[in-house]
Amino acid sequence: MRLDKYLAHGGELSRAEAQKLARRGEITVDGEVVRDASTHVDESSAEVRVSGRLVSWRRFLYIMLNKPAGYVSSTDDAGPTVMDLLPPEHLKRGLAPCGRLDRDTVGLLLITDDGATVHELLAPKKHVAKRYRYTLTAPLSPEGAAAIRAGIDLGDFVTAPAQLFPETGTEGEIVITEGKFHQIKRMFHAVGTEISSLERLAFGPLVLDPALGRGEWRELTDEEIKAITER
Ligand code: URA
Repeated sequence: MRLDKYLAHGGELSRAEAQKLARRGEITVDGEVVRDASTHVDESSAEVRVSGRLVSWRRFLYIMLNKPAGYVSSTDDAGPTVMDLLPPEHLKRGLAPCGRLDRDTVGLLLITDDGATVHELLAPKKHVAKRYRYTLTAPLSPEGAAAIRAGIDLGDFVTAPAQLFPETGTEGEIVITEGKFHQIKRMFHAVGTEISSLERLAFGPLVLDPALGRGEWRELTDEEIKAITER
């Protein structure tokens, strides 16, 4: 792989920045200064340093975003998309959101270029749990809660049993194991109330980092990557 591609792929530098630093003699490969950023490096074994700092090459990038309202979970919509919240190098790398949150839904969104893991996490038969905090326009009735817990016929499909904490009132948490379009909004609508706000708190083993403000992101830790890739 070309040296500039190697550095851009890791999200370290843009290719142009890598070329500039190489010309300045700031980049070493296996201890030798490399001034031509088109030089081929062996990504499985090369030791690449930028200004003396070791750069590790990662096959995939995994990003946890605390999605704000008003952004579409897509790479190519006309409106602002969640990708607009990341540096442009990330889009070039082929990152994409793992599943979708509605434009007005906030909270945990995984963005990655690891297509195989995305496929696993979204596969209906894997029943990956998603936990959301909600507020409602009118309190949930005991009958409504019982229906949500049992599974509701929404016309085009019957929802799998969901968990509710607590089971009445206008706010709480819900855990579902599916991810159909507007699913939670439709479930509450079917039992006579409406969602007024929805925030995703967890997706499988990933839990929204409370240190991330809305619109902020960070890369997953090694433990988090392990938890989603070695399921
Ligand atoms: N269910 C919804 O209705 N909307 C979301 O964004 C996610 C789950």
